[in-house]
Amino acid sequence: MSQTACPKCYALQARRVKQEGFVQRFVLQKLGYYPWECRFCKATFVLMKRGHRQGESRAPSNDATTS
Ligand SMILES: [Zn+2]
Repeated sequence: MSQTACPKCYALQARRVKQEGFVQRFVLQKLGYYPWECRFCKATFVLMKRGHRQGESRAPSNDATTS
């Protein structure tokens, strides 16, 4: 199991947060970036991964996003 580290404080407390605003919802997502937030230092940042959900990797049809 891999955890996501905060790039600022390196705590393994990063979590995916809801995409807010036009930039995050459209631009960043098109580029493959997703917003994250560190629960430890409250820093927000974007990463090229959307987090891991169990059993998601081979079930793209479950995803509502079509592009
Ligand atoms: Zn942090």
